[in-house]
Amino acid sequence: MAYFSIAVDGPAGAGKSTIARAVAAKLGFIYVDTGAMYRAMALYLLKQGIGREEETAIKDACRQAEITIRYEDGAQQVILNGENVSSKIRTEEVGNMASATSIYLPVREKLVQLQQKLAESANVIMDGRDIGTCVLPEAQAKIYLTASPAVRAKRRYDELKEKGMACNLEEIEQDIIERDYRDMHREHSPLVQAEDAVLVDSSSMTVDQVIEAIIQIARGKGLDIG
Ligand code: C5P
Repeated sequence: MAYFSIAVDGPAGAGKSTIARAVAAKLGFIYVDTGAMYRAMALYLLKQGIGREEETAIKDACRQAEITIRYEDGAQQVILNGENVSSKIRTEEVGNMASATSIYLPVREKLVQLQQKLAESANVIMDGRDIGTCVLPEAQAKIYLTASPAVRAKRRYDELKEKGMACNLEEIEQDIIERDYRDMHREHSPLVQAEDAVLVDSSSMTVDQVIEAIIQIARGKGLDIG
């Protein structure tokens, strides 16, 4: 692999995107948020009125939904059939639909291809559920970032509140537990810690401590910048 890749996997709300974005800025890497791609696909399905169980329609939709990525001032933008949907994909409804429809192989194959292409052209820190295990098995540094369900629910609650979205802490925790279960038990590319990934439990760490821990792990794996 010509470029350095950092793979960050873990359950919903572990802080992956906040941390990966900050590490990317510090190291001059590109941050690839793969969850956003599954969310864009889910948004397309919701817009088309396709149900989460409709496997054949979902397979067909994979051919119709064109998902691309571009960067504006270093921030990833997700484009769905020509429309920038980056802000529309951040709802719990879309997140739950993404978790329910990411189980299908055609969805995964389509998006994994896009993710691997991005890593072939730049140093990346990529976050998701299957980056260290499936998307970039050769990544030089792999991190499995987690935190307790209660801590993760509270973080997501604060994040949604800050954006002015209506939300309920108990419901969010319940959604997180369900989503984790689905992500960890699906047939294709379930969420598991890669054998060579370093476990970071951020439950009682500050954002800065987690950023520093990840940069240290990458340095330990041969990264000589940052
Ligand atoms: O990380 P985020 O909450 O945005 O991801 C939404 C959903 O997309 C996850 O619950 C998961 O089911 C799916 N996903 C996935 N593989 C990835 C990234 C996300 O299956 N690499």
